[in-house]
This record gives sequence, structure tokens and C-alpha cells, in this order.
Amino acid sequence: MIYFDSAATTLQKPPSVARAMVRTMKACASPGRGGHPPANRAAEAVYRCRQEAAGLFGMDDPQRVVFTSSATHALNLAIKSVAAPGDRVLVSGYEHNAVLRPLAAIGNIRVEQAAAPLFDRAALLESFLRRIDGVSAVICTHVSNVFGFILPVEEIGALCRERQIPFVVDAAQSAGLLPLSFPRLGADFVAMPGHKSLYGPQGTGLLLCGERPVRTLLEGGTGSLSALSEMPDFLPDRLEAGTHNVPGIAGLREGIRFVRARGPEHILRHERQLAGQLVGALSQLPGVTVCSGGPEESRSGVVSFCVRDTDCETLGDLLAGEGICVRAGLHCAPAAHRSAGTLETGTVRVSFSIFNTPAQVRQFCTVLRRLIR
Ligand code: PLP
Repeated sequence: MIYFDSAATTLQKPPSVARAMVRTMKACASPGRGGHPPANRAAEAVYRCRQEAAGLFGMDDPQRVVFTSSATHALNLAIKSVAAPGDRVLVSGYEHNAVLRPLAAIGNIRVEQAAAPLFDRAALLESFLRRIDGVSAVICTHVSNVFGFILPVEEIGALCRERQIPFVVDAAQSAGLLPLSFPRLGADFVAMPGHKSLYGPQGTGLLLCGERPVRTLLEGGTGSLSALSEMPDFLPDRLEAGTHNVPGIAGLREGIRFVRARGPEHILRHERQLAGQLVGALSQLPGVTVCSGGPEESRSGVVSFCVRDTDCETLGDLLAGEGICVRAGLHCAPAAHRSAGTLETGTVRVSFSIFNTPAQVRQFCTVLRRLIR
């Protein structure tokens, strides 16, 4: 099998991830629930992951790293902390439904999109600049999950800071892959999954929090200030009601350790090399349109393409029949397809991890050539 769907979830993880999960299941109870050794071990496992994440993202205070069950959960916390009915919210034209649906669910929000052609970072920044004055919040994905387009979030963050506008970054496709410093980015919240380029297990996510007040989505036990009827007002407890996913968090710590040991820049270089190889080969195939372009700095390791007169979902199924796992369709991001002009057709998306090889890309192209003939 060739697994080229890491933008959804990385399948192959460092072996240390599963080992830590099993060890934790056998030895750990719940953090903050008792002073006995299994509870203390759990608290230590959870805190170590916070420290590891804070280290990767350049944060001084690990307590501002909040555990969630996914990027979607983290985005809901962030978005519902900065947006309310009646607001005008500015987003990019490349957002995932994990951003657009929570905004729709709040209701009565005017969502404006900063539009720009694919891979044109300057035009996108210009579009944000034209629309930003007077908005209540800005939410922007760091990397498009469909096209691998790297958006200029640091520059957008600077526009927000100058105007004191809350800024939320969806780092679902960048965390672990692009150098990401929370203080340099200057965002109020950065949301990410643990199960993609941080190489942790499904059921994990992180929300990095700045100084802005946060609203709870869930209320319940935290193991702290139990006499209070409200949630504690300090992080991370305020946003972590209920028992933690301790095995998942222990696995995530190992994933983050792996990323830090390899270096995100090394992983990105590897994925970009594979993407470049793939784009070069696809461009030689008749009837194939590759959604690629712009300078290398504006692209990650995700490649989307269409084949003339071929339904992309059918092609995805055919590839699956050949043992090749890709994603086809709209990838939960219809807005991104609308921006790129591929809403009608969708695309076939190939996305890599550190475990993929040039030989797999060659094999993929051989199979694809045969299928589209
Ligand atoms: N945002 C983007 C850009 C994504 O690609 C994804 C998942 O594919 C999400 C958010 C949601 O992530 P999760 O499935 O961890 O909730």
C-alpha cells in the first residue's frame, strides 16, 4: 500500500507513539483526580506533552497549551471566544469547514472573504488589507489543505496587531511542518490537530492561547477549585473539562519529540521534494491539470490535480483499488475550491509525510498513467 493522504491524518507514526500510549494505558489514571501514584503519573505525562508543545512553538508558558480532541474542537473554542452574533469577521478564501461552519452556527455573522488567486501571497495580503478595518476578528488558515498554498499569516497577524483585532490561525496543515513561533506570529489563538504533521494519534489536538479571554464550550470537572460552581478562570483548566485523553496525549508527546528531533524544516524539505517530483511527472501526463504554481516558499507538500473527462472521486476509487490512498473531492473545503475555480470538479489530492519516498511517487505515476489511458 502507498499512503498519500497525510493531510487528512498521518498513518505511519514513529514507533515511540504507540509504545507510549500502551505504557500510559497500563500505568496512568487521570491527572488532578487524586494524589496517588497513577494519578500523579498521568499529571506528569500530560504536563510533559504541554512542555514539549510549548518548546516546539516557542512558548514560555506550557499552561497556555490547551488539549483538545481535534483541530475542529480547538477552532470552535477559539472562534466562539472571538466572534458573536452581529459581528463582521474576515477570513481567507481558502478556509476549511472547521472554520466556516462554527461561524455559520453562531448565526448572524457577516463573513467576508479575502480573495486572491492560488499561490499569490502578495495579492492575498492586499485583499486582507483592503477589508480589515472595522472587522471584529480575523481567522485564517496557515496552509490550504487542498492546494498546499502557504498563506502570509505573519503579515496578516501584523495587520491585526496594529488594529488590536483578534486573530485566530488554523494551523491544521502547518503544525509540525512549517516553522511556527507562537510569539512571533502574534496570534491570539492557534489551533491544530495532533494527528497530522505532529504524528500523534487521532483524538488529539491543541489550542495555543494568548492573553485574550476564552469562552468555554464544555463545563465540568477539572480536578481544581471543585467547590466553585463555575469553571476556573485560569488556563488550561478553564478549557479542559472532563477526563483527559491521557494515552493520546502521551502519544502526541512522542510525535512532537519526533518532529523536534527531525526538525520541521527538514520534514518540509522532504515533502517539498516529493511534491516537486510529482508535479514534474504529472505535468507530462496528457489531460492532467496540476493546481500548482508560484514560488516554492508559497507551497507545502500537498498537490491537487484534475484529469480531463474523469470524475476525480472515480479516479480516487480506482487508485484505492490499486493500493494507493489519496483523497478526492472537495476535502471539506468548498470555499477553497471556489477560490481556485475547482468547485465543479473537485480535485484529487496527494499529500505526503516524512515516511514517503521518491520510489512511491514513481510508482504512483506509473499506475496513474495506466489508469487514465
Ligand atoms: N483545518 C484544516 C485546514 C484541515 O485540513 C483540517 C482537517 O483536515 C481541519 C481544520 C480539521 O482538523 P480535525 O480533523 O483534526 O478536526
